[in-house]
Amino acid sequence: MSNNNQLTPLFEELKKVLEGKIDDDTLMKEVKKYVEDYGIDVDRAKRAIIKKYDTDATSSFVTADSIVKKIDALKGSEMNIDVIVKAIYVDKKEVNIRGTKKIIISGILGDETGTCPFTIWEGESVDLIKGETYHFKNAYTKMWNERVQINLGTRGKIEKADSTVDVPERTIPTSESREIKIGDIKEGVGNITVTGRIISTETRNINVKGESKVVYAGIIADDSGKIQYSAWNDYSLKDGETICVKNAYVRAWRGIPQLNMGDRCEVSRVTDNFGQIQEVTSKKTISDIVKIGGALDVAVFGTVVDLRTGSGLIKRCPQCNRSILNDECSAHGKIEPVFDLRMKLIVDDGTGALSAVVNRSDTEKLTGITLAAAEELAKAQSDMDSVSREIAQMIIMKRITIKGNVMSDDYGPMMIVKEASIDDVDVVTEAKKLYEEMEGAL
Ligand SMILES: [Zn+2]
Repeated sequence: MSNNNQLTPLFEELKKVLEGKIDDDTLMKEVKKYVEDYGIDVDRAKRAIIKKYDTDATSSFVTADSIVKKIDALKGSEMNIDVIVKAIYVDKKEVNIRGTKKIIISGILGDETGTCPFTIWEGESVDLIKGETYHFKNAYTKMWNERVQINLGTRGKIEKADSTVDVPERTIPTSESREIKIGDIKEGVGNITVTGRIISTETRNINVKGESKVVYAGIIADDSGKIQYSAWNDYSLKDGETICVKNAYVRAWRGIPQLNMGDRCEVSRVTDNFGQIQEVTSKKTISDIVKIGGALDVAVFGTVVDLRTGSGLIKRCPQCNRSILNDECSAHGKIEPVFDLRMKLIVDDGTGALSAVVNRSDTEKLTGITLAAAEELAKAQSDMDSVSREIAQMIIMKRITIKGNVMSDDYGPMMIVKEASIDDVDVVTEAKKLYEEMEGAL
């Protein structure tokens, strides 16, 4: 079908991106598997393979060349940017990351527009001098303690800049609250004004520095999306009423943004024109989710492009439910494991890819393989992996709708699936839609 002329550029590109993470033979096998066996187009194959092997999520979604940005323009979700900055404070230290000693450099960087903490994760051969100006290349940003942080990973580079930048003594943050739709809320948006309808309310007791405090929490929605909120003060919020919240701020928990109503916040009752707010899960593209960092209760529609290791028949500790490899739990020692069934899928929707963890009941539903049958199969073949191979055959290249919460960690976006279904696509309708899209693009 396809020839090596088509595969070589993809192979070479991936080799560069995944340097040191995969050997040439395996990479070529993967490239052939995706493009020839699965028949996936080159772009999607590229994304899926990067997603599978690049545990350093920073480069997972890099497509464009990086661009130079000013500090005040950073949003905390940039995947590939350059900054030209002065080193204001530099601290080099040795840390222990999962048993390996590493030199990391952290501190504060500044330019004309503001200051920002930074971390260089491969600091072994880097020397930063306080007061000097540097060009950070291929950096990425994250939110950390409500501030944008500049990070430099294995793909990053630092060069001494030709010019110098001036950092003003003090940068005053703008304090004006700006209006935003709930669907557009992401980490780092700052001081915001939101109008939304209360979908649910609850009170929670939490412990703050030894003191018990009540938090008023719930879900608020408008016609663009929904978000969890929490308030320190009792505004007597009731289900179904619409409020306008001024001076709210956003904090994210594992990538999922949450609306916080602090002491400076003003709440007023208003009437809305949202009409019927869709109680159903909102449908989002993976690239939109990646931009925000996470999402609450969303549906994604895409193609299963791979099954990750850790799928199929797995063993768990009966006491803490951790998945374990041998019959030993890191917390409970030698134990009699219980079996479970799950899938870790890579789903691609054409805009990006995410990992999705599917629990036992949905795995049984989608594959028709029950836990009991999986145990039988593994026993008959004396091989636990036979189950995941079987599942891979049934699930890969299937079109799937998954619903759940998406969180982000160092491995990129991951959905904990609450509900999954395989879509029986009417091929004729699909083909017609594709032609219409193509015509529309011409
Ligand atoms: Zn345990």
